[in-house]
Amino acid sequence: MKSDKELTIDETDEKEAEVVDGVVEDKKDTHATVSHEDDNDDGYEKFCMICHRPESVTGKMIELPNNITVCPDCMQKSFDTMMNSSMDFSKLMNTPGVQFLNMADLENMMPKQQKVKKKKEKPKEYKTLDLKNIPAPHKIKARLDEYVVGQEYAKKAISVAVYNHYKRVATNTMDDIEIEKSNMLMIGPTGSGKTYLVKTLAKLLDVPLAITDATSLTEAGYIGDDIESVVSKLLAAADNDVERAENGIIFIDEIDKIAKKKNSSQRDVSGESVQQGLLKLLEGSEVEVPVGANSKNAMVPLTTVNTKNILFICGGAFPGLDEIIIERLSHKTSIGFNAELKDKYEHDKNIQDKVTVEDLRSFGLIPEFIGRLPIIFTLKGLDKDMLVKILKEPKNAILKQYKKLLALDEVNLIFSDESLEAIAEKAMKKDTGARALRAIIEEFMLDIMYEIPKDDSIGQVTITKEYIEGTGGPIIELRGQSTPLLQ
Ligand code: ADP
Repeated sequence: MKSDKELTIDETDEKEAEVVDGVVEDKKDTHATVSHEDDNDDGYEKFCMICHRPESVTGKMIELPNNITVCPDCMQKSFDTMMNSSMDFSKLMNTPGVQFLNMADLENMMPKQQKVKKKKEKPKEYKTLDLKNIPAPHKIKARLDEYVVGQEYAKKAISVAVYNHYKRVATNTMDDIEIEKSNMLMIGPTGSGKTYLVKTLAKLLDVPLAITDATSLTEAGYIGDDIESVVSKLLAAADNDVERAENGIIFIDEIDKIAKKKNSSQRDVSGESVQQGLLKLLEGSEVEVPVGANSKNAMVPLTTVNTKNILFICGGAFPGLDEIIIERLSHKTSIGFNAELKDKYEHDKNIQDKVTVEDLRSFGLIPEFIGRLPIIFTLKGLDKDMLVKILKEPKNAILKQYKKLLALDEVNLIFSDESLEAIAEKAMKKDTGARALRAIIEEFMLDIMYEIPKDDSIGQVTITKEYIEGTGGPIIELRGQSTPLLQ
């Protein structure tokens, strides 16, 4: 709501009023001031009589009599020309044939209104991250549940961490009790939903997200992206809006690939030194990044981004970590029963849940780096049931997408339960988690999507187990024979 004070603000008071607003009132009121200005906006803007550029490009126009507007650049140029020329204008006036332009004549030459239609920019409305707008952890988790199947612990951990992080950002409590940054480390096999979880989260919080692969990062000066490039990626994802980028999320995938190499005599360019390089970013520092480009060079402007409030999430599969955990556990408990214990742990599917900082150190992450990722949690490998659920349950599940596509052709697409299991089994064999699902479905849906629209009389297609396994075909029913189209 606009207050009375804002409604009476006139143009000359504008600056002062905004400052007052900025100090005593919150962002909403600043928006109200802006919309007040917009009330007078007729969608047109002035343009320069000389260079024809609009006001949005040139800056505020200088208004001359008779509705003539000239931009500051052209005005300056005219003055400069007059000042630098050795011409005596008073003599020129008396020269036969020379006429000075009469402003009144110009009026007739000019269009009645010296304005051009403004390019309409879609107003971008971003959710501001004030405390009231940060959904409570259970609400964040409930939203994640709509998209991400299983991974209950991970969803809970990430919801709480994100809630705390943005609470810290919004309240900006930097007093004596400094709340630690909630940077996270996610451990889980390929295709278990690490990236998907972060993507879903960024979308529901409406914050920019940059995803980078740790393997592409190198120390500055080596071939590859230097470490600060992750921040420029985020800036690009935030449409070069520094303030928005500073509240964004950076996801660094394959973080296990920058573990310190054991027994390496060569200089370690991609491992330990990259971890060292990331320390400052994770903790919070001012980084100079190019605007609108990936690398710094003379042609691109630089801007400063503070990473203090950027949430860093690192993820990786950490192959070999299980052995390190088992080794530690079976060693510690009792030397005599080593073999037996080892066997027990080797069959423990959730062994990664027992990961400690010590294990990560043995894996090759340096202590300072682990220290800056205070929240560590694991994601489970997906089993057959979870894969079937992923196929059909999430809000944007692959099956729902295909069903919708065919429904537009008024064809009812059905997957038998056995067919879903067959797809999940095929995916399990590929060992890439849920990633394999889409590839498998796309492969056999290609024929269906090609053939079905050819024939108007087809009303229903049922995908069978046999079709998936290559021993039969789908059941095709003509219109009239089939059940009515499911919604
Ligand atoms: P990674 O763990 O390797 O980062 P991704 O998050 O990229 O795996 O997963 C690949 C794809 O698999 C995602 O785009 C998503 O569609 C699907 N997926 C993976 N895990 C899940 C899950 N738990 N729930 C729903 N979809 C998932």
